[in-house]
Amino acid sequence: MKVNRRVFLKIAGLATLGLVAKPAFDILSGLNLIKASPAAGTLVGARWAMVVNLKACLAKDGCRECIDACHRVHNVPVFGNSKDEIKWIWTIPYDEAFREQKHEFTEEGLKDSPALVFCNHCDNPPCVSVCPTKATWKREDGIVMMDYHRCIGCRYCMAACPYGSRSFNWREPRPFISETNLDFPTRARGVVEKCNFCQERLAQGLLPACVEACPERSLVFGDLGDPGSEVRKILRSYHTIRRKPSLGTKPEVYYLV
Ligand code: SF4
Repeated sequence: MKVNRRVFLKIAGLATLGLVAKPAFDILSGLNLIKASPAAGTLVGARWAMVVNLKACLAKDGCRECIDACHRVHNVPVFGNSKDEIKWIWTIPYDEAFREQKHEFTEEGLKDSPALVFCNHCDNPPCVSVCPTKATWKREDGIVMMDYHRCIGCRYCMAACPYGSRSFNWREPRPFISETNLDFPTRARGVVEKCNFCQERLAQGLLPACVEACPERSLVFGDLGDPGSEVRKILRSYHTIRRKPSLGTKPEVYYLV
């Protein structure tokens, strides 16, 4: 929406008079006209990204510390069946994760091994453009966000995501959360959810829960805008791959294989 000064003043005026339902701040910030400064202590990045060191990840057989940590802090329910399953971070076979890169001579050990996957926080996210209510959007630092209250459950975003990174709450999830983390919102039936790069932890100066939980230090999170960051050093020094590069979604999750 193009907003000139006249529209801006009109919205602000109507909101002040209580003639529109939403407060002026909500409306104007929704239009990106108000930029809130990050609170002191917030981890700030120009473009957040993650590097997954697959070989280090595989060093500890059957390890799922990162998955458990993520799902615990984000109140992800456990339904006990794959039909209703909600996933923020999980594993799929390497062959499936990297269909475009695999070939008949792919290293034996890698071919059948599990690859850690989650939302790629794509630079060109198809899920965002299809959302009719703007319940999902990309922040300036690249994090692709979800507003659970704005989500109407149409699942267009799920259809648009080529990575299956989003889950839908077919059932009321709250009874299936083993221990509710009161610092993070629970969701309701009919809402889509996914990894948020732990934006709530970044706001507290903390790294993503998965990164902190990994005993092998196989997950590296950092700012692509900072040439001295660890992610930039890795990308400079090693060959990394991304999932489905031909689609042009430009994932910001890189894999060291
Ligand atoms: Fe959207 Fe899927 Fe990309 Fe995540 S991985 S930003 S859900 S298209």
